[in-house]
Amino acid sequence: MSDDTSLLERQCLEKGMRMTEQRRVIARVLSESEDHPDVEELYRRSAKIDNRISIATIYRTVRLFEEAGILERHDFRDGRSRYETISEEHHDHLIDVNSGVVVEFHNEEIERLQRKIAEELGYKLVDHRMELYAVPLDKKS
Ligand SMILES: [Zn+2]
Repeated sequence: MSDDTSLLERQCLEKGMRMTEQRRVIARVLSESEDHPDVEELYRRSAKIDNRISIATIYRTVRLFEEAGILERHDFRDGRSRYETISEEHHDHLIDVNSGVVVEFHNEEIERLQRKIAEELGYKLVDHRMELYAVPLDKKS
């Protein structure tokens, strides 16, 4: 497989997905995104590479990737779905409600606590989502 094959594209191929040229472009854009783009932003980035890609194609493709379990959708309460590739390193999100900036973090104590809570309720934790909504601290005080 050539070097310009993105990680997401390889995952698609492993799932037996048929990869059109446009899907390859969208997979590459998603793989290279280090933020949490929404469909509009994915459309802007993809159209720069291939201007024949329509926003409807982006919608269809992200849904397809999401259903295949290789793309994660987030709802950070701003009315837009955001997407990110599923990373090996688990992380949670803090959302600055003033600016919309999304900060990724990982905290072992929170991870441990969540497992403990599930166990105390008689469950084994298999997944979770943690979203913190915050405003910047007042620096003067
Ligand atoms: Zn993230």
